Amino acid sequence: MARCKLRSGPFLFVLGEVGLKKQLEMLIELQKLDLAQEALRLDVEKRREKVEADTDMLLDLEQTLTRQTESLEETRKLLENKKDELEEAKKGQEHAHTKLNAVTNSRDYAALEREAENFKKVIVQVEGEIEHLRTALANAEEQNAKHKADYDNLQAEIETNRKEVDEAAASIEGRVAELQAKANEVAKGIQPQVLARYRFIRSKRSGVAVVSASGGTCTGCHMRLQPQAFIVLQRQNSLECCQNCQRILYYDAEEAQALHENASK
Ligand SMILES: [Zn+2]
Repeated sequence: MARCKLRSGPFLFVLGEVGLKKQLEMLIELQKLDLAQEALRLDVEKRREKVEADTDMLLDLEQTLTRQTESLEETRKLLENKKDELEEAKKGQEHAHTKLNAVTNSRDYAALEREAENFKKVIVQVEGEIEHLRTALANAEEQNAKHKADYDNLQAEIETNRKEVDEAAASIEGRVAELQAKANEVAKGIQPQVLARYRFIRSKRSGVAVVSASGGTCTGCHMRLQPQAFIVLQRQNSLECCQNCQRILYYDAEEAQALHENASK
């Protein structure tokens, strides 16, 4: 722990114990107001981030759906082609059989029989392919319908969430302005150098610049203070900062009492 680094100029230490205590009280109040505003904003921001992430997911789903639809179209075309192929083979087989009935010499008969046999083979093969394509198509259509339902659900959810976030953003505006006005009022009573120090530490220490050290430990970074330094802090006639995290420290007698009581239970 060390005396807080303030820019040179008229110091507040001449304020004495009462003045310093008041400055610390105002700093704590200011921090409460600042944190309350930030919490409101953060909540809306987080919800908006979720909407944005969901929108990205929706775009991915849309791309998947487009690819699937294209692939389905190709499979359907292929199936149609196979059906035509089957028709052709059946016609060919029929034709061979017709000729077979009219043929008189055995050489032509054997040739036509081979032809009919070949058509039969083609028919069996193409029928197998058609069966396979139909199964694949049914599976793909099922998948596609599922993705389409996912897409519709997500889209509806995004729409609802976006509306809610916009409403939340609008509804906190008044509360944020109210907190800001109070914070401005409190800040007026704080010495400019102390205020500058407070703002600087806040910017470095994720919003928390004033912490209690009632148990002999900085509650900001949990570093144990030197016993001598802790005594200096309890005297409350100088603005003290944690040597480790630089946060402004205060001593809360009531909090210390509560800690003491808890520890002895
Ligand atoms: Zn600390």
